[in-house]
Amino acid sequence: MDGGDRVGPRRTCIGCRRTATPSELVRLARGDDGSLVIGRRHPGRGAWLHPDPACVAEAGRRRAFGRALRGDIRAAAIEAIGEEITAPTGTPEGRTDAPRARATPTDS
Ligand SMILES: [Zn+2]
Repeated sequence: MDGGDRVGPRRTCIGCRRTATPSELVRLARGDDGSLVIGRRHPGRGAWLHPDPACVAEAGRRRAFGRALRGDIRAAAIEAIGEEITAPTGTPEGRTDAPRARATPTDS
């Protein structure tokens, strides 16, 4: 496919166009109404992007979202997603050291 993959799967960031492993990037897909959806399981075409404001801005400037996702993406959606993926992950509250991979039996 893209060739040159020595260390597992690689994806290209639509912002800076550098390749990185999927774990370093955020996958975006297009929502029904020109919005953007974060998630690896979202069906349809995906666009990969660093969680970096510079990459978001660059991708927006070049209309890379629309190209990668084959459809118009609203500017407001890009802005919103930019804020979402670049938000610091270590928020003081709402985040614990508990491993997220482990499913909690009942969480209600
Ligand atoms: Zn990038």
